[in-house]
Amino acid sequence: MSRTHFLGVALLFLVAFPPAHAVKYRVVDRTGYITGCNRFKTEIGSFYTRQLMRAASSFIWLTFNESIGERKDHDQVTLVIHGFQWSFRKILFHEMTHVWQQYGNGKAPRGLVNGIADYMRLRAGLAPKKWAQRGSGLRWDESYAVMAYFLDHCNGLKNGFVAELNSLMEDDYSDEFFSVMLGKTVDEFWMDYKTELDLPVELSKVE
Ligand SMILES: [Zn+2]
Repeated sequence: MSRTHFLGVALLFLVAFPPAHAVKYRVVDRTGYITGCNRFKTEIGSFYTRQLMRAASSFIWLTFNESIGERKDHDQVTLVIHGFQWSFRKILFHEMTHVWQQYGNGKAPRGLVNGIADYMRLRAGLAPKKWAQRGSGLRWDESYAVMAYFLDHCNGLKNGFVAELNSLMEDDYSDEFFSVMLGKTVDEFWMDYKTELDLPVELSKVE
């Protein structure tokens, strides 16, 4: 099945094509069209970026506990550079996760999809300093960082939790996936998490 991603951020977007064998990584540098903007070329460059895409992909497959046959079937990932940011590596890990993660056949909440992408960079040691503190937030899906830390907590309760969640999300999504894997509802786990940290709890979920 053909899968195409258009993951727009100020810096970049990635396009993945199907199918086949080893993944090919391409970088298209469009910053030359922006007057006076050659910092991507001089300070990062396409060669290093391709290495980073390859390394990020390996890290993501490992974290998702996926063998070659279990991964999404993209054979080419193209990264289009539109600008320059110092947080390039952090953004790249987030965006590369979007290439390889499951979306529950379109049913997965956007907050969870982005929370998993931020969990990936948290695990890679690339959490930005400006992130909200671990344990902050009033709802489990309040923000990408809040969810990333919450997923990290769930993964601490059951090693491989995020990998299993991602796998379950191949064709469908339900909040009940949390209780299937951990024996309690996601809201109960959120309450336990906040109670452990002695912080305020709100159970209502953002739609
Ligand atoms: Zn995202």
